Amino acid sequence: MTAQDPADRDRAATPATPGTPATLLRASPLPPLEARILLTHVLGWRQTQLITRADEVLDGACVERYLALQARRMAGEPVAQIVGVREFFGLEFEVTPHVLIPRPETELLVETALTAMQDLARPRVLDLGTGTGAIAVAIASMRPDAQVTAVDRSAEALAVAARNAARRLDAKRPGGAVIFAQSDWYGALDRRLCFDVIVSNPPYIASGDPHLAQGDLRYEPRGALTDEANGLSAIRAIVAGAPARLSSHGILWMEHGYDQAEAVRTLLTAQGFADVRSERDLAGIERISGGRLAG
Ligand code: GLN
Repeated sequence: MTAQDPADRDRAATPATPGTPATLLRASPLPPLEARILLTHVLGWRQTQLITRADEVLDGACVERYLALQARRMAGEPVAQIVGVREFFGLEFEVTPHVLIPRPETELLVETALTAMQDLARPRVLDLGTGTGAIAVAIASMRPDAQVTAVDRSAEALAVAARNAARRLDAKRPGGAVIFAQSDWYGALDRRLCFDVIVSNPPYIASGDPHLAQGDLRYEPRGALTDEANGLSAIRAIVAGAPARLSSHGILWMEHGYDQAEAVRTLLTAQGFADVRSERDLAGIERISGGRLAG
């Protein structure tokens, strides 16, 4: 048996048309943005280079790698899990199947929390159910003086979050390193700890919601998406435990589902929060609600 000539192998693997960025993107069945993310990932290029180098004939191995990633995406795998990263609040976060993929609407939670703490020096911030760490790290990066604690009940998620914090934050930030702890909501937190601001993007999808069986959600950790109940039980637990952990006039903001704003405001008011209100995301949906502890 003769060894296969590498040149033959390359010819066999190369599509009939030359594999250039332009031809690959034109032939892709994916939404253009997704195809561009996968191709820049394979090539190690920036998005703009897909334009400036659009007609460059690519190495056969690169073309094959791109087509393999495209096939995975066509089979349903989320782009963020295929490339292992997702941008949030202008920062790049590592993403694995153990964490929720950061969503653009969650940037509203970060912005609102930052506004709420703008007059506080060295604010003490707690992020419940941190996942990738996106919320905690974004806040810590915008407020170098903030002392940020982030918890998750998943050890795998905490490992991802800790790597994201180490990569994205200045090791010498005045607020110190983000403190990570494995905890089911407040469960494992020292009772004497006190925070000025609590933020959370908890699992708020009801267990029977058909969205859980669609799109990216099929590949994300179920525990990050649903409370396995009516979608409000995690939010209820976070609101109920907040007064004991907040400083006087402390602030709580949470993300929630498109139809939960009124229910969340009712929970906050019943728990003694004042200035209770919701904010709309870019789609015009009341996406986050919060308030300030009265008295
Ligand atoms: N925003 C996610 C979605 O609807 C849900 C995230 C969550 O439950 N916190 O796809």
